Amino acid sequence: MNIYNTLTKKIEKFTPNEEGLVRMYTCGPTVYHYAHIGNLRTYIFEDILEKGLEYLGYNVLRVMNITDVGHLTSDADDGDDKMLLASAREKKTVYEIAEHYTNEFFKDAAKLNVRKPSIVEKASDHIDTYINMIQKMIDDGYAYLSNGNVYFDITRVNDYYLLSGKNPDDLMIGVRETVEEDTHKRNPGDFVLWFTTSKFENQDMKWDSPWGIGYPGWHIECSGISGKYLGEYLDIHCGGIDNIFPHHTNEIAQSEAYFGHKWCNYWVHGEHLNDQSGKMSKSKGEFLTVSLLEEKGYNPLSYRYFCLNSHYRNQLTFSWEALDSAENAYNKLRNKIKLLDRTPNLSDKKLDYYQDKFKDAIGNDLNTSSMITLVYDVLKDDELSDFTKLYLIDDFDKVLSLGLIAEEKEISSELEEMIMVKIEERNLAKKNKDFALADNIRDELFQKGVKLIDSRDGTTYELI
Ligand SMILES: [Zn+2]
Repeated sequence: MNIYNTLTKKIEKFTPNEEGLVRMYTCGPTVYHYAHIGNLRTYIFEDILEKGLEYLGYNVLRVMNITDVGHLTSDADDGDDKMLLASAREKKTVYEIAEHYTNEFFKDAAKLNVRKPSIVEKASDHIDTYINMIQKMIDDGYAYLSNGNVYFDITRVNDYYLLSGKNPDDLMIGVRETVEEDTHKRNPGDFVLWFTTSKFENQDMKWDSPWGIGYPGWHIECSGISGKYLGEYLDIHCGGIDNIFPHHTNEIAQSEAYFGHKWCNYWVHGEHLNDQSGKMSKSKGEFLTVSLLEEKGYNPLSYRYFCLNSHYRNQLTFSWEALDSAENAYNKLRNKIKLLDRTPNLSDKKLDYYQDKFKDAIGNDLNTSSMITLVYDVLKDDELSDFTKLYLIDDFDKVLSLGLIAEEKEISSELEEMIMVKIEERNLAKKNKDFALADNIRDELFQKGVKLIDSRDGTTYELI
């Protein structure tokens, strides 16, 4: 597989540390509000990456954090504390806020067929891990205590700016213009590992530490959780491009300072979803959530289809017109597939050919639009039996996860028995020319989600 690595700024051949196993870490949501569909674009791309690697034969061990603490908008003690704002807005504790929006996040993800990673950990559950890491970094001279807070000294690591490709001089100008400089830092770029003095005095989540009662900075949670569950050699770290700096940059600095060697080999970042006025955010314009799409009558999977038609490294602009046309194309595609004859008739002719092409699309820096094109190619191929087409599309859908093959719905034996009894009653009613009763029975079943289909050979049913 070839994938673009933000660390080297090149498309590279992917080779994991251990043959056949991929250790993958993905930054999770900050759970202070619903996720907007721009946030969710990143999780869709990560889902495709995980499933694509599995299609290529790897086992993937994937870990994700839930940011419920340490959630300042920047490294400095500035910006707003989003959890505290939400807590005041909704008159709930920060723990209740975190639990509610964590559940909502996974509900939205499930509607988009985004699989929950094998390990999901709350930032607030691993305070001891961060404290141990921070203490070691202090002992080794990477971190220092100043005015009650513990800071990371960015001049102690080589290539601090490697991932972001940023120029420290340009950054300093930006820092001076936008925020008050924290005079307790040794260097303006240093960031906080542990707060005990903060402008957020009313912080609910606080813990005892060797440096006093306080709470961890934003970045240490990802280094802590990934190290704990994935060890000291990580294969892939993912996230949205807005996390490259400072979040991922600081994760690298901390983890490599702590472990004493290179930590993660491949950094893979997804581009933004824009609305017509620029990068989508929660604070401006219409707040686009999965629920809003549903309220407006869209299938959430149309949004997944919309995302997959574009490459994860390209910016994508959302509009309702664009979603309409994605939904049209998606529905047409599903209808074409629905019309295929399901009679078993599998031929292995060309199976390898199409599966190899699909692997090539995955290996070509996760080319999702080529993967979708292959579904259309299979449908058009006259040399394939309908059943073979279904087999291939089902196989591709393990990665695409677009629900392309409508499931034959499960039916319990009690329900089936009830339906058969009702069909008999209805046949009898018709025989007795009691058409009102026959219609009533039909309507009653319809309300239970059972559609009767009359034909010359008798009455059958399908579940709706
Ligand atoms: Zn992270």
